[in-house]
Formats: sequence, C-alpha cells, structure tokens
Amino acid sequence: MGQLRRDIIRRHGLAASGALVFSLLFLAGYYLQLTRLSGNQLVLLLGSFWLIQAGLLYWVCSGRAERCKDPSLTVPFMLLSISYFTIMLMSAPALRPVLLLAYLTVMPFGVFRLTWKGYLGVGLFTMACYTSAILYFQFDSGGLWIPQLEAFLGITFFACIMAYTVMGREFTILRDAYRRKNRELRRAMVRIEELAVTDELTGLFNRRYLLRTLEKQRALAEREGLPFVLAFVDIDHFKQINDLHGHKVGDQVLAELSAVLKMSIREVDLAARYGGEEFVLLLSGLALADAGQVLERIRLQVMERTFSQAQIPLTVSIGVAQYHPGEDADELLNRADRLLYDAKRGGRNQVKTETCRGPVRSLAEPS
Ligand code: GH3
Ligand code: MG
Ligand code: MG
Repeated sequence: MGQLRRDIIRRHGLAASGALVFSLLFLAGYYLQLTRLSGNQLVLLLGSFWLIQAGLLYWVCSGRAERCKDPSLTVPFMLLSISYFTIMLMSAPALRPVLLLAYLTVMPFGVFRLTWKGYLGVGLFTMACYTSAILYFQFDSGGLWIPQLEAFLGITFFACIMAYTVMGREFTILRDAYRRKNRELRRAMVRIEELAVTDELTGLFNRRYLLRTLEKQRALAEREGLPFVLAFVDIDHFKQINDLHGHKVGDQVLAELSAVLKMSIREVDLAARYGGEEFVLLLSGLALADAGQVLERIRLQVMERTFSQAQIPLTVSIGVAQYHPGEDADELLNRADRLLYDAKRGGRNQVKTETCRGPVRSLAEPS
C-alpha cells in the first residue's frame, strides 16, 4: 500500500471518529428525550448514515476510488456529513449547539484536497442546509423560533463558514506552492543524478558510472554465468587534430565519435568516456568472437566517414578482452588496455582481441 493511500485512510479514520462522537451525542440526546424521533426513525437515520459512510470508506480503502480525480472522495464525505447533520438538526432543534459545532468540524477536512472554489461550494451548501433547517423550524418550532435570535445566530454561523472558506483559500495557495516546489526539487534531483553519471562533452556515461556498472556486470557474470566483453577504443593521432584544427574542433570530433559509438551498440550495452580520447564499451552477453565483429564494424564505420565541419578523417584502435570468472575489474581493464597498446604498436586502425593475433576481419569485408 502506497504512502498516499495510508495518509488518506488515516485521515478518514480521524473523520469517522468525529462522526462517531456526534452520532453518540445524538443518541444520548435521543435517550434524554431531546429529539423528536421515534426509535425506528433514529435507527433509520443513524443506520443509513453509517451504511453510506461505510460504503464510501470501503471504496477509498480498497483503492477503487484511485481512478477518481480525488481518490480520498473528500467532497462526497463532507456533503454526506453536512446533509445528515441538517436532518439531525431538523429532528432535534434542542441539540442545535451540538450540531452547529458538528458542522464546523467537517470544514477542516477540506484543507487537504479542496481548491478554494471547492471550499466556497461546500461553504454555500452548508449555509443552504442550515437556512433550510431554520426555515423548517419556523413552521415547526414549538415556540422556539425568535427571528432576531435566528438572524443573529445565522449571521454568526455564516461568518464562521466564510472564515473557513478564506482559510481554505490560503491553504490551497500554500499547498500548491509546496507541491510546485516538490516537483521542482524532484526534477532537480533527476538532473543531478544524470549529471553525476554523464560526461559533459560527449553525453556518454563517465568513468565513475562505468566502474560501477562493471562491478554489476561482474556480479551478474559470477552469479548467472552471463559473459561480457570490455573494449578500449582510442582515437589514433588525436593530438594532431587538436594541433591542426584547434581544441574546439577536437571537442566536436570527440562528441561526434561518441554518437557513432552510442548508435552502434545495443540497449543492454554501455558506452563510456574513460578519459581524454579514450572510450570503453561494455558488451553484455556476447562471446569474444561476436564482440570482435561488432567492434570491427565500428572501426570501419569510423574509417568510412569524416568528422566535424572540417571533414576530418579518423581511425580508431581497439583492444577487446573478455571477462574471466574470478578476476577483478582492474585485471580486465588492464588486459583490454594492453591489447589496445598492441593494436597501436601493430600500426593503429585495428581491433585486437585476446585470442586473435591479427585484426578480426569484418563481416562486410571480402575474405
Ligand atoms: P595515439 O594514436 O598514440 O593514441 O596518439 P594520440 O595523439 O591520440 O594520443 P596522445 O595521448 O598523444 O594525445 C591525446 C590527446 O588528446 C592529447 C590531449 O590534448 C587530447 N585531449 C584529451 N582530452 C581532450 C578533450 O577533452 N578535448 C580535446 N579537444 N582534446 C583532448
Ligand atoms: Mg589516441
Ligand atoms: Mg589515448
């Protein structure tokens, strides 16, 4: 059960306790002969009130009301209580002080859900109910109806209801501001989390995230035997690009190459900038030979296009190592790095895998 539903149920528990107190007071009024009801009428009145109340509570607690705009059904609960308090008032004028207080205890429950227009609506409904009860007394007052006193009481009651409406408006403003701030905070948290794992220039994952993911991959490989491959990708003679075209163009080349790497791998794989002009790819669930072919395709893709507006041709050298059960992340990184070094020494623009002596031939290349 979610926190929201728990809060709603707790609130309804409070409201139901309030309704129970006023029901018991009304029952006491009946035994003290302060009402005009017969025993059957009393049972019908309280019984129907609690039946509807229980139905609404079941609707809310079972989660069926979650599809409603207000899953706590605040307005129906408030209108139900106000309507029944009005019937009680009509059938027991002597209990008016108790029932006036009962009306007022209903209003604060709107604070959590109602907009100020909702508050105004419920306030007007309460006033209409009270007015109809007072008009009813006029015909059936038993001598208790004194116009000046009724006007005095009515105005005081309306003033109280209006005060609640104004307060409700203030609460709505506060609640909306609080929700807005909460939303902004959540968005900021998501952005901070993104920034913490992303390399700013290339948009790839950063080294910290790579190392974290590598540990997870290792755990998966140890537990479930899922193989994975790690590849170091390094741009050949990148320094010359910086020297010839400037650092800014160099940055652009790095960003474009990163896009190529990202597009060339699957959702389950990961591309990260390890540092400078060095990238790491983690290829999940692949055997070494298959990974070698994927990387060879990437090498060809890079070679066949140009980068930045200056149309700079580029080549990359790649070292590919498979995870060996039991080894740690550093051992795997070092092996892939050594293979990259071999590729550089072998003349660059090639893929070196652990088991192959020469570069893996591409699927696209004729044998
Ligand atoms: P090799 O083929 O042996 O890899 O040669 P290389 O020139 O690519 O490698 P080297 O390590 O000699 O130089 C890497 C260069 O990458 C040096 C550094 O200025 C540049 N570099 C590192 N980070 C960035 C960056 O963020 N932006 C730019 N524009 N250049 C960078
Ligand atoms: Mg380089
Ligand atoms: Mg390098």
